[in-house]
Amino acid sequence: MSAVAMPAPTQSYNAHFRCFRGCPGEYSVYEVMYTCPTCGGLLEVHHDIAALRERTADAWKREFERRAGASVWPYGSGVWGMREWVMPDLRDENIVSMYEGNTNLFWAERLGREIGLPNLWIKLCGNSHTGSFKDLGMTVLVSVVKQMMASGKSPVKAVAAASTGDTSAALAAYAAAAGIPSIIFLPSGKVSTAQLIQPVANGAHVLALDTDFDGCMRIVKEVTQDNTIYLANSMNSIRIEGQKTVGIEIVRQFDWETPDWIIIPVGNLGNISALYKGMKLMQELGLIDKMPRLVAAQAGKANPFYRSFLNGFQEKVMIHADKTLASAIQIGDPVSYEKAVQAVVATNGLVEAVTEHELANAAARADLTGMYTCPHTGVALAALFKLLARGEVKSTDRVVVISTAHGLKFTSFKVGYHEGKLDEVESELANPPVYLPADVKVVKEAIARKLQL
Ligand SMILES: *Cc1c(COP(=O)(O)O)cnc(C)c1O
Ligand SMILES: [Zn+2]
Repeated sequence: MSAVAMPAPTQSYNAHFRCFRGCPGEYSVYEVMYTCPTCGGLLEVHHDIAALRERTADAWKREFERRAGASVWPYGSGVWGMREWVMPDLRDENIVSMYEGNTNLFWAERLGREIGLPNLWIKLCGNSHTGSFKDLGMTVLVSVVKQMMASGKSPVKAVAAASTGDTSAALAAYAAAAGIPSIIFLPSGKVSTAQLIQPVANGAHVLALDTDFDGCMRIVKEVTQDNTIYLANSMNSIRIEGQKTVGIEIVRQFDWETPDWIIIPVGNLGNISALYKGMKLMQELGLIDKMPRLVAAQAGKANPFYRSFLNGFQEKVMIHADKTLASAIQIGDPVSYEKAVQAVVATNGLVEAVTEHELANAAARADLTGMYTCPHTGVALAALFKLLARGEVKSTDRVVVISTAHGLKFTSFKVGYHEGKLDEVESELANPPVYLPADVKVVKEAIARKLQL
């Protein structure tokens, strides 16, 4: 079948950990290590660009197009359709995939028209197995762990993560698919009911701690000190390799044209780092010659990256993140800070912050044009509205907003909005249900009032 025209990858492509800050040394991705042994900074997965260049840009494009949507294992996955660029020496039998990725990128025609931006597109990463983009990274991480464990030489017996709700859902699902035990650390009362019950249903050991995300992160780092429990947080740069496919997928969906802007809600800053890494790889391999400008959108209640941007990235700002409706990005000490600074600076990008009022009304406005946005997508949309108003984004630009999770995970956010009960939010577009007696006359009057007949 044409979907597998290219032979399965061989050892001729390879990838290793290197220090992101450039310390010398190269390490196997199948070692249990999260940071540079020399400087303590983040690692990144480095690919053999020279080997990848032996195939032309056009050949890569054709191959990725052929595999997209194929059902042949593992190419039905948007991530594994790019396996040579992601984790080339993973064997088929160790890949743990639920055919994540290949999410729809749609033209938001009505919303775009209403805001004066006819070329507005939404990348719906929440239309995925566990309802968020976190699946893209987790398929790679859990596959690497499976290959480690299959070698018989690894000390790893379980995987663990601290989470604001979506990482844990993804880790629990992929670990369950692989038959690997998982331990989840959640900030008690700070994730949605849907997010809490996802890892519970998948059989994870769920620990709800009386702290915030940053507090959970400190605990999980201690617990994973010995190498029997593998840390799946985004400090672990393996997840970035899967998440970087989102940018490549967007460009493929535009017939290999780069959009002018990509706007993305950020917390720990892994996803924007991944987006940039994918774009940069495409540029290095000659698939694109222009980079999009990347916009990191934050909730004003949890805006350390925005504050760092305002100081010209002179220094990393760390804060205590306040409660925000955008609960998945309530993070005060973002782990991938240095990578994200590079992503913004190298693409002439921007950082924007929005209020609770702005994010909730932006989400509602999008919903009224047929979407069903999570609060984080509301953050990105509200940032877009501000950039348009300021003239940074031009009405002729092609703009992609990354929708990071499915709105169905955030029912109480929606209910609260339409009941007018959210803190610091005036629900300008509330559309509450109307409760009436079962009486035709009363019903007809209500309809006439609504439609102004
Ligand atoms: C994790 C997450 C984010 C933030 O991604 P980072 O990599 O932490 O910046 C945004 N939106 C949703 C829905 C998430 O789950
Ligand atoms: Zn280093």
